[in-house]
Amino acid sequence: MTLQQERQKARLAAVLLLTTIIAILLQAVGLRKTFVLDHQTSYVFNAIDDRANGGETTSSISIVEDKFLLECDIVKATYQWPYCEISFNLADEENRGVDFSKYEYIKLWLRYVTPTDTGIRVQLRNYDDLYSTAGDDTTYKYNLIEFYERNTPYPIIVPLKSMHVPTWWLVSQELPLDKIGTEFHDVRSLEIATGSAIESGHYKIEIERIEVVGKYMSDRVLYLVLLCIWGLAAFVYLIFKAGYIKSELKLSERRQKELEALNRLLNVKSRKLEEKLSRDPLTGVLNRDGIAELFNGTDYSQKVPKLSIMFIDIDHFKKINDNYGHNFGDAVLVKFAQVLSENTRENDILARWGGEEFVLACPNTELSFASQLAEKLRKCIENYGWPHALPLTASFGVAQMQKESPTDFIERADKALYTAKAQGRNRVVVAGWSQL
Ligand code: GH3
Ligand code: MG
Ligand code: MG
Repeated sequence: MTLQQERQKARLAAVLLLTTIIAILLQAVGLRKTFVLDHQTSYVFNAIDDRANGGETTSSISIVEDKFLLECDIVKATYQWPYCEISFNLADEENRGVDFSKYEYIKLWLRYVTPTDTGIRVQLRNYDDLYSTAGDDTTYKYNLIEFYERNTPYPIIVPLKSMHVPTWWLVSQELPLDKIGTEFHDVRSLEIATGSAIESGHYKIEIERIEVVGKYMSDRVLYLVLLCIWGLAAFVYLIFKAGYIKSELKLSERRQKELEALNRLLNVKSRKLEEKLSRDPLTGVLNRDGIAELFNGTDYSQKVPKLSIMFIDIDHFKKINDNYGHNFGDAVLVKFAQVLSENTRENDILARWGGEEFVLACPNTELSFASQLAEKLRKCIENYGWPHALPLTASFGVAQMQKESPTDFIERADKALYTAKAQGRNRVVVAGWSQL
């Protein structure tokens, strides 16, 4: 993976992380939606009292200094639970209430104007086809809370969680267990009422503002969405990573193959180079290094059975150079090597030992046969039609390998050649078996 790609990946991860942190922070401290009721509200509101229940309380609502003022004359007489309230009708034209299920709390700017705080009741009335009958608001679920204003900091914060459904309403409903708790999915009205322990008298409650505050998304949904995003990112990353690893594997396999091919090529080249180095450039036969390698290598000198060699040296070659020049001498050397090669067997190995001296290695050859071969070659040289009718001859020293080092072996053959020279040249001398 390139550095560029690594950087992109790090950037994406950073963006994802930052988004997550911001989303969590916004969810925790900011980003709230607020439902507001104040004197400018377009929702219908009215005063309700216990006359509907056969009581005698009277109530009215006015707006004074941009505040709702609920005034009640509570009469505790014929009805046991006298009350009055301000009720905001939240149903729209299609008779649908407000969904407060993602809301957290109600914030109230309200206070008793008259000295006695008899308690405040806040009620969210929820509609559900299961238990409600349209038009009959006694069938709308009471989600309520009652508290004393004097015990609460201003503005009052009422968490929806702290509301409950009163038993007196539940007993008339026979609801299934999962419907007994509070519900806010279709709130048809919001009511602020006097407390239930109220006594007869004149009361005034001032309501400046009501807010229902909630999150756009529930914590659960938000964390689920974040988890999905991270999971998806990880999945996409893994898919890409797997693809990358696969292509890298292929690439490295290809590189390995290329390397092997290159190595093979280099091997071939180096072998060719070696061959070049170990050959004599003038005659084209092996040079001394070439044959030495053959002798020193365990494969040849030790495994080849009955190895014989002969040293061949041109007689009075110096004279040829002196008489006809060095170039002519070279040409004679080339021809000399050629004559030897043409008259030896395929397995015999000819090398130029140095100057006008050659060595012929004959594998699988008994000493007696090697000496016959030497004699044959001597005659070939002697009888070959050399230019200028040169009377060219050569001397031969022959030996067969016994249990000895290659150096000793060569030395014996060389000595035999020396003997041949000493005995008058143009002859073959065979080295006897040395004492072991
Ligand atoms: P003998 O047979 O008794 O050993 O005498 P020779 O003259 O052959 O031997 P000597 O060692 O005295 O001389 C060898 C000569 O071979 C001397 C040298 O100039 C010549 N020679 C060696 N290498 C080359 C070569 O590559 N080309 C030519 N043209 N001459 C060479
Ligand atoms: Mg010579
Ligand atoms: Mg010589």
